[in-house]
Amino acid sequence: MDYVCSLCHSSLINKGSIESNQDFENILCTNPECSFSKGGYFTFEGIPVLVPFDSELCVFRDRSQLNLSSGDKKMSTISTLKKAKKYIASLLGLFAGENQVTQNNYKNLTNHLHEGANVLVVGGGSRGSGSSYFYKHCNLNQIKIEEIDIFYSKYTTAIADAHYLPFSNATFDLVVIQAVLEHVLNPEKVVSEIYRVLTPNGILYAETPFMQSVHMEAYDFTRYTHSGHRWLFREFSELDSGSIFGLFASANWIFSRAIGSLFRSDLITHVISILFARLSNFLDSFITPSDNLDHACGLYFLGRKVESRVVKKTPSWIIEYYNESHKRITHKK
Ligand SMILES: [Zn+2]
Repeated sequence: MDYVCSLCHSSLINKGSIESNQDFENILCTNPECSFSKGGYFTFEGIPVLVPFDSELCVFRDRSQLNLSSGDKKMSTISTLKKAKKYIASLLGLFAGENQVTQNNYKNLTNHLHEGANVLVVGGGSRGSGSSYFYKHCNLNQIKIEEIDIFYSKYTTAIADAHYLPFSNATFDLVVIQAVLEHVLNPEKVVSEIYRVLTPNGILYAETPFMQSVHMEAYDFTRYTHSGHRWLFREFSELDSGSIFGLFASANWIFSRAIGSLFRSDLITHVISILFARLSNFLDSFITPSDNLDHACGLYFLGRKVESRVVKKTPSWIIEYYNESHKRITHKK
């Protein structure tokens, strides 16, 4: 993959030893006007770190705040939180039953991929729940996946900030962003970056929480309703959208936390949440799709990059969208 400067999208050069496998301490932007022309990017464990430190929307002032480490000895706060999140998600997956909606959506995504397609996963340092079929398919079909995140893992191909994607325009045929938009300061900027790096007619798949409490502590900023999520992706034409887990699942999320909090115990929270997961999924099947959408645990959106930005969606359109989408979801089997 050819990376570019995440700030100005100019090409990059390595300045440093090219002997042995050692990391480059200095990757420079070739644009003399750019603040990163004097250095600031580097590699870690052989992967590029292209975070534009101290830029307007970047929460990292310098490289020390990334707390890069490849082993378990020196885990960063973020990777610890990510690991905890992954652990809880896998437990929930085991006891609550697989998340069918996400699994089906990932399967559906593979229909949009041709041989040699380029895929970008934003937040790919840990793999999202329900995504295993997708990764297997890409692996078998030589589809290249770029997996960026702000921490190092065995999956990460580049460390980057989602507000500043280190790729040229029209690079990817598919971009996946699952459970990431709540963790960025400016989701509109992230979506405009995704739009930029997608090829014309490229596909976007996003999953974002709605009725969920704060997770990953300091790194949690936003929630979206179904209409709010659609508005965020207004430059895209919609192929599909809907809820991931419904009203009872959302209630379980809050209820288990409330009981756990009474006893000051995270363990109790997790145990209750796991115990009630299957029951809440069962009860959600008796609720109207419209009610599940308005109280969803999470939402997904599958869209296509439309050829021209001339097809702008107006504010009045999003008001009509509420009834239209609810009608559509009610009639969906
Ligand atoms: Zn630059």
